[in-house]
Amino acid sequence: MNIFGVLDNAATRFPDHGAVYLGTEQQCTFSELRDRALRLASSLRRSVAPGSRVALASENRPELLEVLFGIWAADCVVVPINFKLHPREMVDILGDSGAAAVFASPKIAESLSPLANTPIDVFGTPAYLDRFDAEPSSGPSADPSALAWLFYTSGTTGKSKGAMLSHRSLTAMTLAHLADIDSPDHNSSLIHAAPMSHGSGLYIPAYVSRGARQVIPASGMFDADEFLNLCSAHPRCAAFLAPTMVQRLVDTGRSAPDNLRTVVYGGGPMYVDSLKKAMAAFGPIFAQIYGQGESPMTITGLPRADHVSADDAVLGSVGYTRSGVEVEVVGPDGSPLGPGEIGEIVCRGDVVMSGYWNNPTATAEALAGGWLHTGDLGSFDNRGHLTLRDRSKDVVISGGSNIYPREVEEVLLEHPDVREACVVGAPDPEWGEIVVAFVVGTADKGVLDAHLLERIARFKRPKRYLFVDDLPKNSYGKVLKRELRARLG
Ligand code: AMP
Repeated sequence: MNIFGVLDNAATRFPDHGAVYLGTEQQCTFSELRDRALRLASSLRRSVAPGSRVALASENRPELLEVLFGIWAADCVVVPINFKLHPREMVDILGDSGAAAVFASPKIAESLSPLANTPIDVFGTPAYLDRFDAEPSSGPSADPSALAWLFYTSGTTGKSKGAMLSHRSLTAMTLAHLADIDSPDHNSSLIHAAPMSHGSGLYIPAYVSRGARQVIPASGMFDADEFLNLCSAHPRCAAFLAPTMVQRLVDTGRSAPDNLRTVVYGGGPMYVDSLKKAMAAFGPIFAQIYGQGESPMTITGLPRADHVSADDAVLGSVGYTRSGVEVEVVGPDGSPLGPGEIGEIVCRGDVVMSGYWNNPTATAEALAGGWLHTGDLGSFDNRGHLTLRDRSKDVVISGGSNIYPREVEEVLLEHPDVREACVVGAPDPEWGEIVVAFVVGTADKGVLDAHLLERIARFKRPKRYLFVDDLPKNSYGKVLKRELRARLG
């Protein structure tokens, strides 16, 4: 099926239900949303051929919903671009994807238009509004292997690549979410606090399929107080939040509104200590997903119920294999490893990308042997919980021993005077590499050394501490380890 089908079904079942909200204001019903998407599809088809890539460059806005489904209804491919990227990085993505058109918010269009050759359609302008005068199109074709979404990776390990996600992949992702993580209904809401171009946007089909509201914060981004207020105003709320956003919710000192039912976190490490604090403040509302753009949102997961009375090992894991995917941990020769053995995490299933756009070399490497090689290291326990160690290139090898930065970071963060911590390896003539910790907080070296000595093996302790005001992060909130390594010279 074409993923547009989820909107078609919702509009048939719940035509008069509110579909899209800006803050607390309803923008359209499900039948209006379908109608607008089909009109936009007709208008698009006049200028772009089926299969064309059409980019979106906007902070979170209500228009993104009609455009997303309109592009699918026109048999085209969406290329969502993170609005926090530099305009030059956006132009790179427009060029790499060969986008035939781009829809942008006025704010982004202003900085993008001097640099981009691609025609820009700006939300709210007469030209944009005229598109909805077209007669509604009859809808898309139903080829499940057609490309639906080019997901540009966050590029923490190099240049951003476009993971090709088909309608089949998005359908598998949607079903797995509904099967494993959350079960919204037509009296539920999805609050788009994280960027709709990535984390939050991938959940749209699951919640639309059940007729749930799509709520866009009036600020167009994440503000912890605004988010909590919105959760009081809409029924049965769910949201995807990056771990740093969860931290900011906790920092408000507020308790969870009754209507906040599910917070899905993932996309980066959630340290056990932070998770426990979040659960103490907000209750058992948290569910974890582990995935990557190449297997969107779906490799393993830890549902809400599994967080309740879980031990630290389970809370520190990324849960177990998701519905419809096979996950293995393999050794350097590709053979599967047993429980407790650390190797590369690989997975396969309908949800996995069909390759990288225009990049056969990277595709062959990532999909070697029919499995997606995630580049993440981990191990399963006896009960099928997967614990992520680190990305393979982040492991520190000191004096011949492997040290997993995440383990050291977890322990550093247990100290009350450490707010953020990031551990990297630095070249060293004697040890090969030494462990270096970048720390945000007020604790000093002596205190941290003593703290670590009580908790982990001596050889894992940082040989150097660097106290910093903050950690460099990319526009997705991920810590840029390569930048920290560069600071070490
Ligand atoms: P991206 O493709 O930009 O979403 O990045 C995916 C990467 O983020 C994965 O390969 C992991 O290294 C990391 N990641 C995703 N989910 C989690 C999680 N739940 N815990 C820790 N790291 C995660």
